Amino acid sequence: MECCICHGKIETHIHPSTGKPYWTQGHNALPVKDGRCCDNCNQFVVLPTRLKHIEFFINGQTNDDSFHTIKEEIVDKLLDNLEEVVDKLTDRRKDNAQSFNPSSS
Ligand SMILES: [Zn+2]
Repeated sequence: MECCICHGKIETHIHPSTGKPYWTQGHNALPVKDGRCCDNCNQFVVLPTRLKHIEFFINGQTNDDSFHTIKEEIVDKLLDNLEEVVDKLTDRRKDNAQSFNPSSS
C-alpha cells in the first residue's frame, strides 16, 4: 500500500510478541490528504498539521469549509521538515552502527 503524502510504502505493523502482521492500512492522512499515510508522514506531517489546525481554530483563522483543507505551502513546508528529520534519523542510525562496530569504519 502506498502513502498518499510521500508515495513511499506504508509499513506493515508486526505484533512484538507473536511476530505476526496485525495492521497494514497505515494512518488516516486527514486533514493533509483524504487517504492513508505511512508512519513517518503521520508523525511528522499529519499530527503537526492537526495541531496547526487547533491553532488556526483558536485564532479564528478557519471555518468549517476550510477545516479539512490545508494550504499547499503548509504541506510543502511540512514535507521539507520531514525530509530533514528522515535525513537526521538516517545519519544517527549510521553513527550508531559505526559506534557498535568500530572496526567497520
Ligand atoms: Zn509517507
